[in-house]
Order: sequence, then structure tokens, then C-alpha cells
Amino acid sequence: MNIHEYQGKQIMRDFGVSVPTGYVAYTVDEAVEAAKKLGSDVTVVKAQIHAGGRGKAGGVKIAKNLDEVRTYADEILGKTLVTHQTGPEGKEVKRLLIEEGCDIKREYYVGLVLDRATSRVTMMASEEGGTEIEEVAEATPEKIFKEVIDPVTGLTPFQARRLAFNINIPKESVGKAVKFMLGLYDVFVKKDCSIAEINPLVTTGDGDVLALDSKLNFDDNALFRQKDVADLRDFDEEDPKEVEASKYDLSYIALDGNIGCMVNGAGLAMATMDTIKHYSGDPANFLDVGGGATAEKVTEAFKIILSDDNVKGIFVNIFGGIMKCDVIAEGVVEATQQIGLTLPLVVRLEGTNVDAGKKILKESGLNITSADSMAEGAQKIVELVK
Ligand code: ADP
Ligand code: MG
Repeated sequence: MNIHEYQGKQIMRDFGVSVPTGYVAYTVDEAVEAAKKLGSDVTVVKAQIHAGGRGKAGGVKIAKNLDEVRTYADEILGKTLVTHQTGPEGKEVKRLLIEEGCDIKREYYVGLVLDRATSRVTMMASEEGGTEIEEVAEATPEKIFKEVIDPVTGLTPFQARRLAFNINIPKESVGKAVKFMLGLYDVFVKKDCSIAEINPLVTTGDGDVLALDSKLNFDDNALFRQKDVADLRDFDEEDPKEVEASKYDLSYIALDGNIGCMVNGAGLAMATMDTIKHYSGDPANFLDVGGGATAEKVTEAFKIILSDDNVKGIFVNIFGGIMKCDVIAEGVVEATQQIGLTLPLVVRLEGTNVDAGKKILKESGLNITSADSMAEGAQKIVELVK
């Protein structure tokens, strides 16, 4: 789960990690009020969307007085920001962060991720702050320094110091940088983060070290014990189809092709998408109905797939292990009738009671194309949506 920058900064503040003072604003008047409360010489008006690259897209403005705060807040609120992370459709700005302007001396990058190769949390740092870390990794990988963290000791002060020296934090600020990194690690572990990325981390004219940006992502599987984090979820930032799917415990991810896929199990979903691609088709989504696919779930899954106008056909690829194929077939037939499906539908069933399942599909009298293998099913649906 993703949260907004201002929410991430509040969490960091709670853990004693330094961030500039700032307030959230939903309206232009609130933005001006927030700026008054800050009383700083320079105020930064920042669009709050779940995407980076806002600066370059005009979503971060430096205001020198209250009139400018009003002008920028008015300009940014309600605007659809298109950044390299939003996709071409962009994201509408509904909240602003009004923050005190900071006297930046240098920008750095600090990030924490779980490195799957070592199965350990790893802190990465670079003196190339403010730029995309992916670009730094591509062009000048020698400028990224890493510390692999032992879960028993946690990030140690000497590791943090080594990072600070490697990225050339000025000597007088190293102590503060170390405190920052240790605090950020504490946030990452205690709040069950999957990513904590600070880009930029800055040193200021006074030698302070603070986070000007904050990107915290959380492990969905840990939200049950992070209720305060779960409450920060902003449904406006999520695909409504994905929100709907999560209500029925369906894993749904929208993609940009035209073949709706209904599959059980994430592995099978991946294999199905690969097979469709192999036959030059394009999946419209990744939809995993999970192990216990009931008729109700199948119906909801169909409805969600069909609410995507790009969908020109559906491929159901189900392995009946615990679930029996005949039960699934009944679910598919019921859902097809209930929805009055007119698009081409290809169904491939395999596993327990497969013959009974195929018989149900055949005798339903509905326009359902049956397939005996994943490859055959993928080929058929690719052909049908042409
Ligand atoms: P994004 O990564 O989405 O572009 P950032 O929060 O990193 O957004 O802001 C972009 C740039 O704006 C920063 O690299 C920094 O130079 C400047 N900036 C952001 N917040 C402040 C602030 N409080 N004071 C001064 N400059 C800021
Ligand atoms: Mg940034």
C-alpha cells in the first residue's frame, strides 16, 4: 500500500526523523492558512499524488509570499498532473502539502528496500539526489552505495557512517545523517514498509539533514497489525476496479490489452499472460480468483473484467485442484447468464472432475468455446478478439 508524501513525513516525524514542517490542505483557503501558520520566508506548494516526478511536471512550486501561495494552490489543486510515473492519463491533484521552504545545499538519495537476492533489508545511498535512482543505476552505478542489514543487529551506526562518508556528506553533518538513517531504518522495520525512499535527502545551509521528499510503501500482508497505516489509504489514488476486486478478495491488476483473464492462482495468472503474449495477444488484466472460487466470486470477477471497456474477449483458465471443475463450470455458466455476456468466452478447465465440468459448459447452450490446453485456449481467444 502506498501513502502520500505528507503522511509519510508525519510517520517519520513521529519516529524523530527530520522533515520540514508542513501541513496538508484540501482547498486554496486551507493552503493560505497553512502558509500563515508556517510563517516561513519561502513556502513550498506540493501536489500530493501517489506518484513521483511531480517537480518536473509542475507539481512543486516555490512561493515567496501568501499571494503566490494562493496562486500556486489554485493552479495545482484540481489539475491533472502527468508525470513519468502516472501514465499518460495522469492523476488529479486533490490535496496539497504546504511546507516551509528549505535552504538546500546539496541533494542526496537514501532508500531502503528488501533485497530478494540476500533476503535482507538493504540501505542504498547516493550523492546523485533529486534524479531518478534508476537513471543513476543505469548511467553511474558506481555512485550508488549499499549496506546489507543484518536483521539481528539492525542498521549499525558504523554502516550508516560508512554510507554518509561514501556519499560525501560534509563532515559537520555526518552525525545528523547517521541519526537520520538509523531513524529511517526504525520506521521501515516498525511500520512494515516494503519501500522507504527519500529523494532528495538534503543538507541545508545550517548543516541540517532532512527529508524533502518521502515515499513509503507498506506490505499489504502486515496491514492487519498497522491499523493506523491502513487508515491512510486513499481510494481516490487507486483504480476503482482494483478497489472493487479487493472487496471480494480477488487479486485484480488492470493492464492495457483487450483480453480479460480469469485465473486461479498467481502462478497460473502469470503463465496465462505469458501464453497470451506468446500468441501475440494482450491481456487486459491480471485477475486471480484464488483457491476458493465460488459462483459468486466468479460472477463478481466477470463484472469487474467487463467494466473495462477495452475488454473484447475473456479467457477463463482454471485448474481445479481443491476446487472442482464442475463447480467452476456451474459458476461460469451462471455468471454468463446473469450478466448476459455477449463477448467471446474461451474456457480451459483442467483437474478434478474435468469431464463433468466440460459437459456442463457444452450442455449450457451458451456461446462458450472450450479449450483442452492453455496454449489452445490462448490461441483461440487471440483469434476471437481480432
Ligand atoms: P518529486 O520527486 O515528485 O519531483 P520532490 O518532493 O522530490 O517531488 O520535489 C522536487 C524538488 O523540489 C526537490 O528535488 C527539491 O529540489 C524541491 N523541493 C521540494 N520540497 C522542498 C522544500 N520544502 N524546500 C525547498 N525545495 C523543495
Ligand atoms: Mg522526489
